[in-house]
Amino acid sequence: MKWTKKWVSALLALSILGAVGCTGPSPTTNATKPGPSTPTTGATKPDASTTTPQTGKTTQGIDLSKIQAMKPGEYLIDSKGQYPMKVKVVLKEKSIDQVVLVEQTETPTVAEAALREMPKRIVEKQDIYLDAVSGATNTSKGILQAVRMAIEKAGGKPEQFKHSESGQGGEKKDPRPTMGSRTLPSQWDETYDVIVVGGGFAGLSAAYTASKNGAKVVLIEKMPVVGGNSQINGGVYASYTSKLADTLYPKLKLKPDTAEKHIEDTIKGGDYMSDIKLVKNFVYGAPVFLDLMLDNGLKVRESITRPGGHYGYRTYTTEHGIGADIVKVQKELLAKTDTKVQLNTKMVQIYRETEGNGRVLGIQVRDHEGKLRAIKAEKGVILASGGFSGNVAMRQKHVPALTKDLPTTNHVGATGEGIPMAQEIGANTIQMSYIQLYPFANPNSGVLDAFAVIPFSGPSSGIVYVDVQGKRYVNEGERRDVCSRAAQNSGGFPTFSIFGQDIVEKGGFITKEQLADGIKAERIFKADTLEELAKKINEHQFKEKTIAMDGKKLAETIQKHNGFVAAGKDPDFGKVIDKGVMMKVDRAPYYAIPQWPSVHHTMGGLAITEKTEVMDIWNQVIPGLYAAGEVVGGVHGTNRLGSNAIPDAAVHGWIAGEVVTKGSVPTFVPKN
Ligand code: ADP
Repeated sequence: MKWTKKWVSALLALSILGAVGCTGPSPTTNATKPGPSTPTTGATKPDASTTTPQTGKTTQGIDLSKIQAMKPGEYLIDSKGQYPMKVKVVLKEKSIDQVVLVEQTETPTVAEAALREMPKRIVEKQDIYLDAVSGATNTSKGILQAVRMAIEKAGGKPEQFKHSESGQGGEKKDPRPTMGSRTLPSQWDETYDVIVVGGGFAGLSAAYTASKNGAKVVLIEKMPVVGGNSQINGGVYASYTSKLADTLYPKLKLKPDTAEKHIEDTIKGGDYMSDIKLVKNFVYGAPVFLDLMLDNGLKVRESITRPGGHYGYRTYTTEHGIGADIVKVQKELLAKTDTKVQLNTKMVQIYRETEGNGRVLGIQVRDHEGKLRAIKAEKGVILASGGFSGNVAMRQKHVPALTKDLPTTNHVGATGEGIPMAQEIGANTIQMSYIQLYPFANPNSGVLDAFAVIPFSGPSSGIVYVDVQGKRYVNEGERRDVCSRAAQNSGGFPTFSIFGQDIVEKGGFITKEQLADGIKAERIFKADTLEELAKKINEHQFKEKTIAMDGKKLAETIQKHNGFVAAGKDPDFGKVIDKGVMMKVDRAPYYAIPQWPSVHHTMGGLAITEKTEVMDIWNQVIPGLYAAGEVVGGVHGTNRLGSNAIPDAAVHGWIAGEVVTKGSVPTFVPKN
């Protein structure tokens, strides 16, 4: 954390306590004996320093005409070093005349030098941005803070008491430069309170929250429509509860879920590499956002599933099994606010000052006419520009094996340029090489269409995955990374999800229309027996090649699996089978969906705090820059559990919108 930030929080804390006081006469002696309620060290301005020769400057070279006049007097300030302290500050109209420690209980040996030196230096140099005395940072800061508060109380401007080169206000000056823009716009074309870059789940959510909080918001989207990847996402949403929970869990005979279990599964599913604070954010925020959507017209199917890596029933599927269902509600909500949406407008640069606080001031965009424009953000820029699965060079930079031969489930806009643009002004990235393959995409195109969601939703109901030989190759309840790797190692291309009529009718996650559409589009194969189903599979081409699945083998595999379902145990792969929930595949017709891994989600991205503030390469917050959604790294660790993406993006967007406007996180964010 930066000194400036601590400075502000300390200031706030102290002003909340009503710590500033102005009292009558106080001791002015420079006693050295430390201890409670004991006047200790102090300093008085020597006369020489007040000299104002013809230049109008003091002997320290301070131009008094530039100092705002203060109300002269004695100010008795409650401050805090290592421990609470009382400091008397005597101010003249344009100078600090005296600093005296009236009460303090600092650790004698450690604080001695600061207690002795700091008041002296402040008065001598007329500076409250001095370096701390080595080894006594907190004591030094406490004294500097007291003088700053006295100046403010007297109507002065603390920033005018900064005259030495090196001082940073209590800490050693960081020799590392603030990374910022080489040039800043001489004038701005437009000004808003908040700029949101990207119109997916995260951006729509951030813009809505910021706007609802009264901010003037612009949402910048480079594509001709908002929705991004979110629009074509599978529409599956993990939430440990919702306003539908009381009805759905008993109806589906499912054990209710808990936030703790959702958090545990998510962290385990990412190999314990995620930031637990970010996981808690989205897990606790998930039902709040879902309920907001449900209250505003979102419809979900009558099912709550337990897809790979989840060990609690918590995954809802939207009406049409596609993220566009949620985007539609988000767009409708946003339309009710004053947010200005600029389509076909691409962020090409982030503006950050290198002076002062090193604040992000705005962005440069290339608009729909190809013109470059500078847009200023008074409160902050929220990056919600998504991941980089669609950028082969960028993904290969981090995972060389992800060549152009691997397709992606992503839209063409998933090129991730928001990340290097943020790096350019100093942002840090985290876990960039954690890139997820979706194991069940259309093998011919790599696309994640609505049919490709069925294999994902199906494991807890009893869908079976088989390879080209008709044999199981993985525990269907496993995480996406495990399922993808197992498919790649299965010895053939592609693999298949097999299910029967019971799963269709009772699983709740496949609609009749979807099934009919899938069969018509030849994305779903249907047959009356498993042998015939294998024949159907063999009649199709996958990337212009056919396979020769043995129908008998497929039937044997399914029969064996039915036995496991009856027994509630899977000795072959150790799948968790919930008796009464998982179904046998023993009633015709039978169905098959071909599937294959496709580059899907980039778990790595910008490093953020739990308040969505972007961190720089020195681990300091970049003032005015926030990020949410897939552009962020560290939320999911090595592997994102399916159906965690929407709550992650939408909830962190919500948090960013709230933090940028109010400075605080929403109430659903846990306190610890
Ligand atoms: P998330 O799920 O994190 O919200 P999405 O991929 O759904 O991510 O949305 C990100 C959006 O950001 C996409 O609509 C994409 O077109 C947009 N986007 C990406 N880069 C830029 C950019 N440089 N300028 C404007 N919009 C961008």
